Amino acid sequence: MKDKVYIFDTTLRDGEQVPGAKLVTDEKIALAKQLELLGVDIMEAGFPISSPEDFNAVRKIANTVKKSTVCALARGLDEDIDVAARSIENAAAPRIHTFISVSDIHIENQMRKTRDEVLKMVDRAVSRAKSYLDNVEFSPMDASRADFEYLVKFTQVAIDAGATTINLPDTVGYALPEEWGFMIKSLVERIPAFKNDVVLSMHTHNDLGLATANALAGVVNGARQVECTLNGVGERAGNCSLEEVVMTIKMRYQDRFYTQINTKEICKTSRLVSEVMGLPVQPNKAVVGANAFAHSSGIHQDGIIKHRDNFEIMDPDDVGASGSAIVLTARSGRAALKHQLEKLGYVYEKANLEPIYLRFLEWADEKKQISDDDLHALVENVEAISK
Ligand SMILES: [Zn+2]
Repeated sequence: MKDKVYIFDTTLRDGEQVPGAKLVTDEKIALAKQLELLGVDIMEAGFPISSPEDFNAVRKIANTVKKSTVCALARGLDEDIDVAARSIENAAAPRIHTFISVSDIHIENQMRKTRDEVLKMVDRAVSRAKSYLDNVEFSPMDASRADFEYLVKFTQVAIDAGATTINLPDTVGYALPEEWGFMIKSLVERIPAFKNDVVLSMHTHNDLGLATANALAGVVNGARQVECTLNGVGERAGNCSLEEVVMTIKMRYQDRFYTQINTKEICKTSRLVSEVMGLPVQPNKAVVGANAFAHSSGIHQDGIIKHRDNFEIMDPDDVGASGSAIVLTARSGRAALKHQLEKLGYVYEKANLEPIYLRFLEWADEKKQISDDDLHALVENVEAISK
């Protein structure tokens, strides 16, 4: 039997913390609707205590979205939790997500409390959230740098108070896949509730480029929810990328896990996020980058033309991309040129192609890329000379 991995999208909350990416309410609602179409299980709509505008945006999203669970973030403080609960009171499926730091670094240097005092805060925060609704997520912040025995205790207190999801953040993006996977495995072994009705989640950051690898290491070791964003947007170097996790599960872990994401909506959602946040996607970005399905080397182009599987592991249709592209450059071969000319209506036998190919190489050495317009001009030029 395959296990479901829940996709918790935090583009509207962690993603929106990127400097300059702040969204107005209408943009947030448009994005929330697209996330619902994409099929995310849970969307974190915002941090309602942070500003009146954010409160209103979360409220409107909660009123609009029907299929996904709508989650509001709150620090583990009474007022935060009360405001978060109010913002999602009309949601079809509401969730409160509250958090308190678990690492000694944060407990001593930021909160200035003792470990025992913090455990009482955990109980109080989760119990308060639980007084409003049943679906409560709790995050032990900075889990990757915490003392493991204290983390076990901390997590157990949150579960005893009623938390239904425990989310381990690698807040500073410091974890390595093997140690992160081991921590998840050890926690599942120590806390039986994770084998029953409490979901273990992860929130990984990409400071060392390991956010996706860490999240997948966690899934393999027993976690069943991944917190992520489109295009990997988020604080500093960003969050785990939704598209990377979802497509890796679909392409490589298909015998063990599945998600309910409608993958054909991935590229559309990625473009919308990039547009409204004003954050361009790097061309070589996995899955959604402009070059993710573009081929430029002659050997690869020849292979792709003969059979797509030769050099592509994913079908571009599967993620809603516009299709494989052959980019003609000075590194392209005769097969790619012939293929592109035929698309434009020029059919050449092998012998007749040669003068065109030689001229093509001259042009391609001068220009970086040869467009369809260039090809029309090239054909006219060569034919005019040979007449
Ligand atoms: Zn984060």
